[in-house]
Amino acid sequence: FQTKQIQDLDAQHHLHPFSDHQSLRAGQNVRVIVKGEGPYVIDSEGHRILDGMAGLWTTNIGYGNKELAQAAYDQMVELPFYNTFFKTTHPPVVALSRKLAEIAPAHINQVFFGSSGSESNDTAIRLIRHYWALKGEPKRRIIISRKNAYHGSTIAAGSMGGMSHVHQHSYPVYEGFRHVMDPYWYGDSFPGETPEAFGLRAARAIDEEILRCGPENVAAFAGEPVQGAGGVKIAPSTYWPEVQRIVDKYGILLLADEVITGFGRVGTWFASEFYGIRPNLITFAKAATSGYIPLSGVLVDDKIVEALMSTDDDFNHGYTFSGHPVACAVALKNLEIMERDRLVPKVKETTGPALAKLFARFKDHPLVGEVRTVGMLGAIELVADKKTRKRFDDPGRVGLICRDHFFREGFIMRAVYDTMVCAPPLTWTDAQFEEAGAVIQKALDQTLAD
Ligand code: PLP
Repeated sequence: FQTKQIQDLDAQHHLHPFSDHQSLRAGQNVRVIVKGEGPYVIDSEGHRILDGMAGLWTTNIGYGNKELAQAAYDQMVELPFYNTFFKTTHPPVVALSRKLAEIAPAHINQVFFGSSGSESNDTAIRLIRHYWALKGEPKRRIIISRKNAYHGSTIAAGSMGGMSHVHQHSYPVYEGFRHVMDPYWYGDSFPGETPEAFGLRAARAIDEEILRCGPENVAAFAGEPVQGAGGVKIAPSTYWPEVQRIVDKYGILLLADEVITGFGRVGTWFASEFYGIRPNLITFAKAATSGYIPLSGVLVDDKIVEALMSTDDDFNHGYTFSGHPVACAVALKNLEIMERDRLVPKVKETTGPALAKLFARFKDHPLVGEVRTVGMLGAIELVADKKTRKRFDDPGRVGLICRDHFFREGFIMRAVYDTMVCAPPLTWTDAQFEEAGAVIQKALDQTLAD
């Protein structure tokens, strides 16, 4: 197949996620990615492109790892599939469950598996409501989350998310979800408000919503430790301790959606540890297998497990691929490689500081309003007026222009409206930071000139 043929067939037969299908119909907009090698992807024209997004916040160990391929092969020939419904289990699911319990916070020892982040959040929503039903408080159904949160695309996870363009296609969103402000200091603080004061105000919006709903109706608060698809919004230091205080005050459950932040992204296995919070549920997906094969899950704390074990009724929920043996074997190998190569501590010691230093170089660029980083997660927010923080009149247009400049120069960053976001593989070395720096400078200058 030539590139053009692939593009034409793609336009004829393939519906892309989160895409404008009219422009895709033209075909020529689509770039054909044919291979991955370490930190690079290679397109059908032979361009080597440095992937600053780890696929989609996913390939933490980089591309082309043969050990993962071997682990998948070995498991496929041994036992390619068996379900975990019929009171049956198998060695890879048990080994991975034990490993996850080991790296999760101490009060979490059990895991329920799925294949996608959306599924894991749907599972968490059902577990939360089931928990309260088992505790004799079935009225507690409301889950409070945040504006601009992304928790997935299934209707329940999409309803828990706070993106209006996702809600738009749910017709309508499910009842029982409320959305409060996200902790976005750069965009939403009052003039002169410190990040610390703003963090407390953003957390207290949860308290106010609980009171509005009636505390006896509220089941849980859900949030991404760092809002990813919403634009890598990093909460001020006061936010999460105050959130924890509020959920404890009302005795509601805390769900940390770590689909992006799980598996070392901010320098600890889970960002809950980094922020010092004690979630009752942690959802994960993406980097559990470095994206080599789909696998997700919900880590469930002892308190919820105790409630589940208090009855002989079934929890009627699960997926054919819950605990898929090949996915579990790949995840185990992925975690083993991350440990062997010290990828998580390196985020604290070297790679995270290198990303912070790299982005800091661009904070004075005339197009840049703010740069934000935590661990190996970062954002460069573009604005029309640096002094007044005025945004562009046509949100997203400049971001797409900038993203295209990045792409042409051989580097991938994602545009969230006019914020350029970055989540590279955790394996980056000095060479990749240098290469990214040169491209970012050039692409920002070109965007400014346009
Ligand atoms: N939660 C978060 C924080 C995410 O970023 C995503 C996807 O990007 C999801 C959930 C949904 O995951 P999936 O696309 O695997 O369903």
